[in-house]
Amino acid sequence: LVARMRAFGTTIFAEMSALALRTGSINLGQGFPDTDGPPAMLERAIEAVRGGRNQYPPGPGLPELREAVSEHRKDHYGLLYDPDGEILVTVGATEAIAASILALCEPGDEVIAFEPYYDSYAASVALAGAVLRPVTLRPAEGRFTFDPAELRAAAGPRTRAILVNSPHNPAGTVFTREELSVIAGLCVERDLIAITDEVYEHLTFDGAPHIPLATLPEMRERTVMISSAGKTFSVTGWKTGWICAPRPLVRAVQTVKQFLTFTASAPWQLAVAYGLRHELDWVSGLRDGLQAKRDRLTAGLTAAGFDVYRPAGTYFVQTDIRPLGFTDGLALTRELPDLAGVVAIPTQVFYAHPERGRHFVRFAFCKRDEVIDEAVARLARLG
Ligand code: PMP
Ligand code: GLN
Repeated sequence: LVARMRAFGTTIFAEMSALALRTGSINLGQGFPDTDGPPAMLERAIEAVRGGRNQYPPGPGLPELREAVSEHRKDHYGLLYDPDGEILVTVGATEAIAASILALCEPGDEVIAFEPYYDSYAASVALAGAVLRPVTLRPAEGRFTFDPAELRAAAGPRTRAILVNSPHNPAGTVFTREELSVIAGLCVERDLIAITDEVYEHLTFDGAPHIPLATLPEMRERTVMISSAGKTFSVTGWKTGWICAPRPLVRAVQTVKQFLTFTASAPWQLAVAYGLRHELDWVSGLRDGLQAKRDRLTAGLTAAGFDVYRPAGTYFVQTDIRPLGFTDGLALTRELPDLAGVVAIPTQVFYAHPERGRHFVRFAFCKRDEVIDEAVARLARLG
């Protein structure tokens, strides 16, 4: 393995899902739903396969999906993207993130990201030979946020881009317009590219609005906006995502993408195009259901003795394990199958400074109510 990847062993998701299988534990680790996406959309994928839509789609993605994405951006956010040149379909958000960084960062360039961050960020930055500059999100009044002065201090002469994930995995924060304005101000002042990971764009709670960074003044022209069907339609195994960005940025990312995967699978693209056009009510139902599940898991974890950060979006609840007498989330999550028959994710693995996240553990609530209830009943034994 090349030196720059040696720090990256098996991902925590693979480790913890394998642990759940091996021990027969309830898996509240890896974030994937245990129910399916909208039936009519699934049917469209089957029809696409049966209907012979099984050969290479064009490199940028099927026009049906690019057009559906373009209309969705316009209807939802008032953002105009030309399906022909400003939208690129990718193999999930993961490929979009990697291809964007590889396409836009020279070796030695710096990329700012808020820690804790989704695990592929650090690996993609390392693949590009770039340098990650973490800015720590810290709890303040029950939610994780950043210090604007720390963000500004992280930007230097080699800073090329900032990765912005909102709604944020694993912290559960949905950045407010004020927070986004601070980020946008820095991007404009320092001429940075923003790579925005918006895979949970539809999964916000209590009416919290998801505001794409690209909608702020002077940001559309410098933003690569990333989405994924996986979370929006509960089809994480379809690995279908897309970027929306100005033409020169899309051209750059596509230049890299064509040699990573050339194009993304065809049948899913047709089905996701259908989903974007016809299943947004289903998505609202998913969101409302998830909000109730958030409350269910939050209440259960609080009763079990965790300090809980109630998320404004995503699938995940962040907890502080210290009230239960534990100090190290990695040690606890490795023992949790024996202690309680439950698997969770140690948040410290998402930090450049693991000690800052040592006492946090993440639990997923994208699970059937009876699964959440059983997990909570088991975790109550910890107290
Ligand atoms: N970013 C974040 C914040 C995620 O939680 C995930 C997992 N869905 C991804 C990116 C990867 O998305 P995909 O499965 O579409 O590659
Ligand atoms: N996005 C999901 C999570 O954060 C899982 C992603 C993965 O398995 N790579 O749990």
